[in-house]
Amino acid sequence: SCQPSSENIQIKKAGVGIPSDQSIEKKIAQQLERLTLAEKVGQMTQITLDVITQGADEFVSDEPLALDEKLVLEAIQKYKVGSVLNTANNRARTPKKWNSVIEHLQRVSMEEIGIPLIYGVDAIHGTTYTAGATFFPQQIGLGATWNPEIVRQGAEVCAYETRASGIPWNFSPVLDMGRDARWARMWETFGEDVYLNTQLGLEVIKGYQGEDNDISKHGRVAACLKHFLGYSSLSGKDRTPALIPERELREIYLPTFQAAVDQGAYTVMINSGLINGIPVHANYQLLTELLKKEMGFDGLVVTDWADIENIHIRDKVAATQKEAVKMAINAGIDMAMVPYNYNFTTNLIELVTEGEVPMQRIDDAVSRILRVKYAMGLFEKPMDKQEEYPEFASEKFEQSALEAARESITLLKNNEQVLPLKKGTKVFVTGPNAHSMRTLNGGWTYSWQGEKVDEFAGKYQSILTAIQAVNGTGNVSYQPTVEYPAEGTYDVDHLRDLNKAKRMAKAADVIVLCLGENTYTEKPGDLHDLNISENQQLLAKEMAKLGKPIVLVLNEGRPRLISTFETQMDAVLQTYLPGNFGGQALAEILFGEVNPSGKLPYTYPKYANSLLTYDHKYAENQEKMEGMYDYESLMEVQYPFGHGLSYADFEYRDLTLSKTTFTAEETIEVSVKVKNNSAIAGKEVVQLYISDHYASLAPSVKKLKRFEKIHLAAQEERTIRFTLQGRDLAFVGFNNEWISEKGDFSIMVDQLKQDFYLSETKTYNQVQSLAL
Ligand code: BGC
Repeated sequence: SCQPSSENIQIKKAGVGIPSDQSIEKKIAQQLERLTLAEKVGQMTQITLDVITQGADEFVSDEPLALDEKLVLEAIQKYKVGSVLNTANNRARTPKKWNSVIEHLQRVSMEEIGIPLIYGVDAIHGTTYTAGATFFPQQIGLGATWNPEIVRQGAEVCAYETRASGIPWNFSPVLDMGRDARWARMWETFGEDVYLNTQLGLEVIKGYQGEDNDISKHGRVAACLKHFLGYSSLSGKDRTPALIPERELREIYLPTFQAAVDQGAYTVMINSGLINGIPVHANYQLLTELLKKEMGFDGLVVTDWADIENIHIRDKVAATQKEAVKMAINAGIDMAMVPYNYNFTTNLIELVTEGEVPMQRIDDAVSRILRVKYAMGLFEKPMDKQEEYPEFASEKFEQSALEAARESITLLKNNEQVLPLKKGTKVFVTGPNAHSMRTLNGGWTYSWQGEKVDEFAGKYQSILTAIQAVNGTGNVSYQPTVEYPAEGTYDVDHLRDLNKAKRMAKAADVIVLCLGENTYTEKPGDLHDLNISENQQLLAKEMAKLGKPIVLVLNEGRPRLISTFETQMDAVLQTYLPGNFGGQALAEILFGEVNPSGKLPYTYPKYANSLLTYDHKYAENQEKMEGMYDYESLMEVQYPFGHGLSYADFEYRDLTLSKTTFTAEETIEVSVKVKNNSAIAGKEVVQLYISDHYASLAPSVKKLKRFEKIHLAAQEERTIRFTLQGRDLAFVGFNNEWISEKGDFSIMVDQLKQDFYLSETKTYNQVQSLAL
């Protein structure tokens, strides 16, 4: 087995880790003695409360195990089920209603087995199944804020409102990398960069679990890191096989998870897909050797939805369902989410009795589950109640969601300073995303696909109503022209009344064209074409013929291609999926009440065959290489990673390094001056990149290594300082170890650049390579 190297131990100390508590370990040991095998297997089972199927009267059934509350209660009694989740209730329950549902489940669980249930939910931008909860921007929008403080606050609010609903476990954050613009889960990520992902991911964990990871405290929930490891869609389609060499797994996909484990996250969910031909759920190397041993993860590992079954049914790696159970549990799975359509319980009991799954493995799994339940304090108090949470949906929380939306919205283009608009300007608002709370919120909102949001829209403002509020209803005309069907989540829309739209636009001074996507989540969001829909392209082109200034507002979960008409747009704003306060935040930005400060957390592609991340290798984007090629880059992008304009005007100067030669042990002090040359205050994200001139493995063009979001008053200048270490110059080398190689490097901030020399080569950790 693989011992963590001393360097790993050092890194581990940097995070707080799951607190070790001897009294809890003693109680776990007592439980293990007391529980029967069947009860232990029950603890390892998680079922759903979703109401989909009628007549599934048994937990073990040929029907999908979609149960209403009564059936869930029966399953708890009969199978001693240890965990419940819900995803598709299509009902927004009040916190009180959730309390009563979960209270009932807890009572039965305590009576039957003396162990509380652990209830889990996807509260990914606020507690999304609870009526009236505070909805923040989806994770991609939070990524665009580049503001750790805002991300932390959002997580705190989410934890508070989730726990108020009686739920102590959140299937969040997504720490997968959003490196493929086509992926339907792009918007669930913090974008394409591993450093940004790590910095913001850690804030979510701190927000959910507190700095000390004491999740028994008021308003805290256990985080669930998903989806370990390498779930990122490298084909554009959700849950498709990926080929990822170990070096790349370690360099791009692993660091965020390692940092989050070190920080003390209690639970991890597994990648549904296959890496290098092996279903991750059956991969002992990844789940046990890497996650549990090398990374030192002591918490609970849960499958993704029905993914033990998938080893057999979908991936055909296990010839029987029983074989799939054996593979998954022996690989290191502790809890099976929704193991429906087959007999998980009976199979696992048989496998243990036959000696195919060691009893030790079962005890390890149950220990990890109980460790989380004890840490949550559920044995003393099986659930928190709404009355203990008077700030639920308070104005303070809403303010923080509004602030997050304001800082996320990204101004991508602003020709001739068409923005901000003057109040009183005659505005024609059009497009399918102009008047929809559903598209502002995106998927995982009240239901999996987000299709019910408008039924609960309540007091919140759409883009249209927010513009009316800021600009005066009399100055705003509106017609959608392109509409999404009320039902369904597919990439479908309808065009109508185009001539009327043209007439209305002609009567206005400015057109605000709100394009984008309807809601979707996971596989139903798979696309045939990354181009924005034909109807929307047509609407944009027709509007452009009228000679009026056009402000294009994009409200989309991934960057849909706009290159067929972008040059005809005067201003472009990306809202991502900004949540319930996105309409208001956008209107404030359009009319100059708020100065935009979002920055793209991904590369906005221009062409379907030119998908690229900013940290690509040189060969991926050969621009006019002298003597070799003489054509324009094929990889031209629409807008680069990190791009975002302001109404203020920032100037960078005096990029300075403390020395020009460093050893790997020394720290590199970097400073740069940033001045706001304008008459209005604004926020800017100072981004520091490094490029390694030559390396034994082809280096990336550049890598983000530090950033800081700063506020500058009109005419204010500040000096920003960063400290780098030898480790920041490292990549994963031939031996799968982090290594920084002697040689020349550049540091880049905005357009400024300084070179320095690293005078020695250093490796940072020793790892045992995985058999992948
Ligand atoms: C998703 C997970 C989610 C789970 C439970 C799955 O389909 O991949 O991200 O946590 O469902 O809702």
